[in-house]
Amino acid sequence: MTYEAPRIAPRNWRTEQDLGAYLAGLRPSARNVTSAALAVARIDELGWAPLGGYPGSDVLWPVACLMCGWSGTRFYSHLRRARPAMRHRGCLPQSEHPSLLSALSAYAADTCRCRRGHPTTVHEVADVLVALQRAVREDDHGQVVAHVRALTGPCPATAARAQAVRALHKPPK
Ligand SMILES: [Zn+2]
Ligand SMILES: [Zn+2]
Repeated sequence: MTYEAPRIAPRNWRTEQDLGAYLAGLRPSARNVTSAALAVARIDELGWAPLGGYPGSDVLWPVACLMCGWSGTRFYSHLRRARPAMRHRGCLPQSEHPSLLSALSAYAADTCRCRRGHPTTVHEVADVLVALQRAVREDDHGQVVAHVRALTGPCPATAARAQAVRALHKPPK
C-alpha cells in the first residue's frame, strides 16, 4: 500500500520562538516538560501531531490527525488511551487504522538528525533538563524556549527521546 502522510500546515516559525508553542499555559518546570515530552511521543505513536503547546492532560489540545489531515482539539487524557476509537467524525474507516499507523511509523527514527538537535539518550536528556533549570533560574527566556523545544518539539526520534525521559525517572537500583 502506498501511503503519503497528509500535509500538516507548518507552524509559523515566529510562534516557535514562544514557549507557548511547546507548553500552553504551563510553567517550564522539569515535571511539565517531562509530561509534554511523553505526551507528544504518545500521540505521535497514535497518529496525531500537536498543533500547539502541550496544555496538560485535561485541557483541550489543538491536534491534527495524521491519518487524514483533520485538525481540531482533543484532551490528552482521551488521546493517550486511543479514545475515541473512531478518532473523529469523518476519519478514515477504523479497519484501515492499523495499516495507516504502520505506514506512519516508517517516518520514525532512532536518532535525531534535525538541524537543531533533540536529546535522545538518558545523558543528553539529563543535560538539557539541567540546562533548562539553570536558564529558568537565570530568567534567560531564549534559552528556556530553546531547551523546552529540544525536549518537546517535533522530531522523528520523538519515541527514543520519550524513552530516555522515562528512563530518567526510573528509581535508581
Ligand atoms: Zn482522521
Ligand atoms: Zn530531532
